[in-house]
Amino acid sequence: MSIQYSITLRMLERIITTVNKFIMRLVLCTFALLFFLPSSAQYQINAERVNQNLETLKTFGVNDEGGNDRVAYSDHELDARAYVMKRLNALGVEVRIDAAGNISAVRKGRKGLSKVVAFGSHIDAVPNGGHYDGQVGSMAALEVMQTLVEQKIKTNHDFELLIFTNEEGGVFGSRALAGKIDEGTLKVKTSSGYTNAEGVNRLGGDSSTIFSVKRSKEDLHAFIELHIEQGSNLYDQGIDVGVVEGIVGLKWWDVVVRGFANHAGTTPMNKRKDAMLASAEFVLSVNRIARSIEGNQVATVGRIQALPGAPNVIPGEVRMSLEIRDLSSNRIKEVYEAIVSSTKAIEEKYQTTFEFSPIDATSPPAMMDDRIRKVISDQARTLGYSQLSLPSGAGHDAQDMAMIGPTGMIFIPSYEGISHSPLEYSTPEDIANGTQLLLNSLLALDKMTKL
Ligand SMILES: [Zn+2]
Repeated sequence: MSIQYSITLRMLERIITTVNKFIMRLVLCTFALLFFLPSSAQYQINAERVNQNLETLKTFGVNDEGGNDRVAYSDHELDARAYVMKRLNALGVEVRIDAAGNISAVRKGRKGLSKVVAFGSHIDAVPNGGHYDGQVGSMAALEVMQTLVEQKIKTNHDFELLIFTNEEGGVFGSRALAGKIDEGTLKVKTSSGYTNAEGVNRLGGDSSTIFSVKRSKEDLHAFIELHIEQGSNLYDQGIDVGVVEGIVGLKWWDVVVRGFANHAGTTPMNKRKDAMLASAEFVLSVNRIARSIEGNQVATVGRIQALPGAPNVIPGEVRMSLEIRDLSSNRIKEVYEAIVSSTKAIEEKYQTTFEFSPIDATSPPAMMDDRIRKVISDQARTLGYSQLSLPSGAGHDAQDMAMIGPTGMIFIPSYEGISHSPLEYSTPEDIANGTQLLLNSLLALDKMTKL
């Protein structure tokens, strides 16, 4: 073989390899475009419509100060629920009220799978509350359903919209689904004046068969709740969406400080066993300890009562509350123990004693599902939204749904972090972004065969 021929052959080989590589790359790119680009990106929610629906929802229970009187089980809530159900019925999905009064609307998937992809929130409010807490998530859920139907989006799983009963009065509807309510819960009198049992019957539920609504882990593929942050992390930092890490757990204690009640005129300052003075130092110490440990834990003394409670008597006893919240039960324990040990010095200094009794108002932290958090985060990135991973300091229906199956939460900014107030506000743009992210995340989860 001549040298020249060999060189030509090598050049030819190189050309063929280069062309081959090019073709391979072209094929790979096409595959990537087809399969790896989020196919949900093509489905757009209607930003104007979701905000318009929220405006309409406001009309049910708006009061003179612009606040919201739509407490659970009230006439205002009945009217608002009728409006939501009318909208859902018009979509041709299966709408029903379960025994706990939760509104459920199901759109069938194509595969006849038993597990549902669920989403939703609540439309009841605290007395003189705002128009965004729960309501943004509910109207976003309605918009998701509307988009699915309108754009004939095929899903593998059934998609279920849920509007939960009496969230503000103890996450009642979602607790019922998690099987966490009992006869006692039914007898609780709510802000509307009705008990939960009476209220549920008013909504079209059935308090006599209510325990049957409990769902099992086999029922839920995934659940996502969109909600306003109700804090100011996103608002202060100008971030579009929050990916919730979990909902903090909380523990309550009664704290009793005992000193000696004595004459406020005749007992010299150095002879006193002033329970109030000891309590004052305790309140400061709770705050100092909660801030001294790195993390997001919060600790609060929210109630205080001095006994006997007279201007001319040195307080002999003080009763206080102590609340600690965090995503980790261990952290709550750590903060509590630090607080208790700080009282030793206070006891000595003021000749008093401290007694702590736990109260049965404890709720454990509810962690959001890692895989769902990742899906939400990835989808937010694809949509070009800035994002922050953060805990929820407030309770939500999602905390109970997390007991049934994989659950996630999306936050949007709250104006100045204000909530449970007529001043509650989120911008139409943030609401639209949150709704789009909710849709995209749900569609991405739908494609996952197993979570
Ligand atoms: Zn809420």
